[in-house]
Amino acid sequence: MSDVLESTQVVIEQALKRLGYGQDMIDLLKEPMRLLTVRIPVRMDDGSTVVFTGYRSQHNDSVGPTKGGVRFHPAVTEKEVKALSIWMSLKCGIADLPYGGGKGGVICDPRKMSFRELERLSRGYVRAVSQIVGPTKDIPAPDVMTNSQIMAWMMDEYSHIREFDSPGFITGKPIVLGGSKGRETATARGVVIMIHEALKLKNIPIEGARIVIQGFGNAGSFLAKFMYEAGARVIGISDVNGALYNKDGLDIPHLLDRRDSFGNVTNLYPKTISNEELLELDCDVLVPAAIENQITEENAPRIQASIIVEAANGPTTLEATKIITERGILLIPDVLASAGGVIVSYFEWVQNNQGYYWGEQEIDDKLRVMMIRGFENVYEIHLTRKVDMRLAAYMSGVRKMAEAVRYRGWV
Ligand code: NAD
Repeated sequence: MSDVLESTQVVIEQALKRLGYGQDMIDLLKEPMRLLTVRIPVRMDDGSTVVFTGYRSQHNDSVGPTKGGVRFHPAVTEKEVKALSIWMSLKCGIADLPYGGGKGGVICDPRKMSFRELERLSRGYVRAVSQIVGPTKDIPAPDVMTNSQIMAWMMDEYSHIREFDSPGFITGKPIVLGGSKGRETATARGVVIMIHEALKLKNIPIEGARIVIQGFGNAGSFLAKFMYEAGARVIGISDVNGALYNKDGLDIPHLLDRRDSFGNVTNLYPKTISNEELLELDCDVLVPAAIENQITEENAPRIQASIIVEAANGPTTLEATKIITERGILLIPDVLASAGGVIVSYFEWVQNNQGYYWGEQEIDDKLRVMMIRGFENVYEIHLTRKVDMRLAAYMSGVRKMAEAVRYRGWV
């Protein structure tokens, strides 16, 4: 099943049934409670006006305000934004954050827009969704092809609308505007913690462990850096144009030096292999860190990794999850593995609210505690309830929200 919304709904339903909830709870939680579609007119540099379509999806706010990134990408769809907001709820649940899930997106191609056009689009998006977002309602953050500069424009626009400085409206800001130390690297740091836990379970030392990473953007490039620094061998990396492979380990510092701001680097080298071949390399840990639906029932039987850690959202289909689990490959699912970003976003919001800022070490230590606790909870559910890791993660992620819904008397 390659429809990310439908496959998420299948697992949400299974998780709620296993937790003993009825159809009413399933009906409520398998869809976002609110979806806003907006049209954003943007004056382009040549004087013409282009009208962009954007979305903001809020899954459920029984636990607290909703939280999740804004994606700028040509392939954004309503269904994808809805699925992403549900995944954010699960991440927040696994990490035990006082949030529900939210997500936004604009159908656009930032690679073809100027700096000023991007600024006008970012400000226009905030004006369009301003009624339903805010520091105690719904808190955006960066996602695919949005960054701290875009967060800064969005925060500035929101502050103008509300007529007071509102750093807690959005996370992933530049440090000088109330951003948190460690936010930029948080997703990769969280993935590193999961890789360490998974390697321990498989009795594989990190020193010399063979790592393959699909995607060399924010998540993939920092992950490659941290793995390289930890003494692992990053033997394969890829971007949208292709993949590079060296069985003895790639020169990651050199590749990091040469990548562009969209995470492209392979076009500078003669390709060694394709993206499809990269996924099937013999390795210890495979990390999909690019896009959805990369591991499917077609290629899952040929995956040679002992461990798959999903840094990307939705890289593995449900059919592939079944095949991987049956083959004894340890899967650390996306809603657990990539929770580092939202955890440090939460720290940023807490620091904005209290007006007192923590050092990088403090952030890293707190992140580690939350990631490991999340991992232990999911792994215990996997063992005791005899369910695969994805279903275990969904059970862990949806439990608190369902309880909050019940206490509030909504269902
Ligand atoms: P990014 O835009 O910075 O980088 C994406 C990378 O994937 C680039 O190297 C790009 O070339 C590559 N890519 C794009 N299409 C591809 C394709 N068809 N085949 C192979 N490679 C392709 O994005 P990111 O922020 O690194 O996010 C990557 C994934 O991780 C996404 O699924 C995102 O939702 C997820 N994620 C990111 C964060 C975060 O904090 N950045 C947090 C949680 C989850």
